[in-house]
Amino acid sequence: MSEAVAKLSFWGVRGSTPTVDPGTWRYGGNTPCLELVTPDGLQIILDCGTGLRMLGSRWAAPNGDKAPETHILVTHYHWDHIQGIPFFAPLYDEKNHFHFYSFRSKYLGRDSLKQVFETQMALPYFPVNMSSMNAKRKFQEVDGGDTFRIGKNKVTARWLNHPQGCLGFRIETTAGTVVYATDNEPGDAKLEKNLRELAAGADIFINDAQFTPEQLAITKKGWGHSSWKEGVQLAREAGATTLVLFHHDPDSADRAVDTILREAREEFDSVFAASEGMVITLGAAGDQVQAHMPGTRTALRREAQFRARMCGETV
Ligand SMILES: [Zn+2]
Ligand SMILES: [Zn+2]
Repeated sequence: MSEAVAKLSFWGVRGSTPTVDPGTWRYGGNTPCLELVTPDGLQIILDCGTGLRMLGSRWAAPNGDKAPETHILVTHYHWDHIQGIPFFAPLYDEKNHFHFYSFRSKYLGRDSLKQVFETQMALPYFPVNMSSMNAKRKFQEVDGGDTFRIGKNKVTARWLNHPQGCLGFRIETTAGTVVYATDNEPGDAKLEKNLRELAAGADIFINDAQFTPEQLAITKKGWGHSSWKEGVQLAREAGATTLVLFHHDPDSADRAVDTILREAREEFDSVFAASEGMVITLGAAGDQVQAHMPGTRTALRREAQFRARMCGETV
């Protein structure tokens, strides 16, 4: 930890439901999960979609780097943001310690996230119940407008425009500021102001880009999501440096996401489309923001298929 660097890893970038069709492999099919390792060595996980399972497998591997306490921010309770929880292996290990942050849902009342855990793992939805989760867990309620600290990092939460509510998070580290604004739709002036405040001067602004501007205007209006065009406009207005298009539609094949990215890049200098395995480093020497893209996933799959060539008879 000689350098004050923040490392942001994308474990799941797909919105609404996981996808497995080959046409979506390059950007990836796991639902939202990000991991931010802060300059002061803390691990902050953003959302618990299916990408969380992969993070957990990596974590359990020998020599996997592990912080003593992990902080997990949950934006809201829609399936795609919580469905990785029962499959997150580190939650079953008593040595681990987790600190969860989420809001009190009016549909669930007190201890909303705790209830989500219990319900997800209640019989007959899952084979083992909560009692087998041995890791220490702390739950903290946060509300839109709250500001709190995780280590040396300042976290701000704001409500976004989404059915049943969703929190956007701004995390200010000594290496730069990351804003995570998934699941939001334009059209509500007050909540749009929240989004602009979150994004103000951010180094990395991750925004919902599920739909095309055309879909958003007509067929998908009111579904709670946004487009690259809104993201670009917001990034410009708020003075954000890099925009990351996030929460890709399950019906958007890689080529559709390519088109969305191309169009966004025509209007804004620094844009990425989130892809599984992408790692962004903030505060590295010589360059404020570095993005490392994974090798094309299709190439990896091709190699895997070759190695797994079948022997024997087919029937
Ligand atoms: Zn979502
Ligand atoms: Zn949602």
